[in-house]
Amino acid sequence: MYYISTRGKADKVSSAMAIKNGLASDGGLYMPESIPQLSTEEIKELLGMDYPHRAHKVIKKFLTDYDSDRLLDMCIKAYSRFDGQYAPVVKTESGLYFLELWHGPTCAFKDMALQLTPRLLSEALKITGEKRCANILVATSGDTGKAALDGFCDVDQTKILVFYPVNGVSPLQKRQMITQEGNNVEVCAINGNFDDAQSAVKTVFSDKSFAESIADTSFFSSANSINWGRLVPQIAYYVSAYCDMINTKDISLGDEINVCVPTGNFGDIFAAYIAKVMGLPLKTLVCASNDNKILTDFFNTGVYNKKREFYQTTSPSMDILISSNLERMLYLVCGSEKTAEYMEKLKTEGEYTVNADELKELQRVYYGAFCTEKQGAEILRDLFDNDKYLCDTHTSVAAHCARQYIASTKDTVPMLVVSTASPYKFVNSVCKALGITPSEDEFESVELLNKYTKVRIPDGLAKLKDKQIRFNGCIEKDQINNKVRDFVSR
Ligand SMILES: *Cc1c(COP(=O)(O)O)cnc(C)c1O
Repeated sequence: MYYISTRGKADKVSSAMAIKNGLASDGGLYMPESIPQLSTEEIKELLGMDYPHRAHKVIKKFLTDYDSDRLLDMCIKAYSRFDGQYAPVVKTESGLYFLELWHGPTCAFKDMALQLTPRLLSEALKITGEKRCANILVATSGDTGKAALDGFCDVDQTKILVFYPVNGVSPLQKRQMITQEGNNVEVCAINGNFDDAQSAVKTVFSDKSFAESIADTSFFSSANSINWGRLVPQIAYYVSAYCDMINTKDISLGDEINVCVPTGNFGDIFAAYIAKVMGLPLKTLVCASNDNKILTDFFNTGVYNKKREFYQTTSPSMDILISSNLERMLYLVCGSEKTAEYMEKLKTEGEYTVNADELKELQRVYYGAFCTEKQGAEILRDLFDNDKYLCDTHTSVAAHCARQYIASTKDTVPMLVVSTASPYKFVNSVCKALGITPSEDEFESVELLNKYTKVRIPDGLAKLKDKQIRFNGCIEKDQINNKVRDFVSR
């Protein structure tokens, strides 16, 4: 199977090459030439398997130049550090199903992909005969940084350097990063905000002479969800959830379900779309947004307009105005020429509008909804008080949008809500929603929430306080170049 660019102006490449390159040479994202199918017979076979084996069956359809046995080995290793459950489906009394994707080592759904992506990349270097070391640079506002550090930790032929804004991440997220173990990792604070960190990293990425000066031994790569190697593992959990719901007799093989996804960069929900095209009976995909409701507006009107106010919310991983992976969806609906045109318009004019037929095609699958800060806090509390289900502030956005969809459409198909983080990861906001006054110290808030809810604290967070701090550095923006140079030559 070959991979082509969403903008149509790059050579087609193997899956290993697509994963190694990250971005296509014309600035587009890689997509498989065609989407492989998953038959009813194959779904039946998956029913008796555990998560790593299910993931292997799905992923190998896309990564045809990888050795199947080695791929299975990677899947088993990647998911070996989960807390006993991989991606469980939890049914609540009010009838919503939650797909919990935060049982990995860093307690956010990014682990589902980022425990595997680094292994896929490392293998891609072997397959393509690349002898140089991949240097991963990440700017993070919280979740991605830690999940990437943990995933790349001591993976062959890779090194990772993460920059975070010194006052832009929560104390818990900071502690998670600065205590990271491993010989190939480094973490550094930047005196500035997330945009400062992000633009500094982008400048290094696009600096051709910098890249040439290290080209004998090293090259730069990224761990963002624009990489197909990060998207493909995410398809598997939709297939797995469907199997689980058959096994618990909540549905029968062939029945449709709906899915509601708390959306930021459009990676998670796009993986659901691919699963649907493969033949998994997913009906409507509800795209859930917070106050940054650019996608809700897009699915309702066909206008994607980023010239709007940016809100900082209690679901920070969804505070995003450019959802990169939407480009992949546009490509499937409009083709590469139009996609390139729309992306150019977005860059130069800050907006683009799809035509009526394209909008109709998108609306056939997606339903856009959003949730305000107040509504999010209300449903979080309602779910805990009445359904005995505790969720985080991203999942509550999705739960609200799921209920809104059901109320307005009267659709009775079972609704699977994707749960993307442990409630303990966003502890202060969760406490406030429940009416508990959080402590100044986030670690104490974790204890408070535990006393109130009796929900178990994930090991990864419980043990954090005692871990040794390894990375205390904080630099000015203009020192990033030197920092990267030191890191590469290390
Ligand atoms: C990254 C993230 C999201 C958004 O997922 P996308 O794939 O970017 O749409 C939602 N919730 C949490 C907790 C996240 O970390």
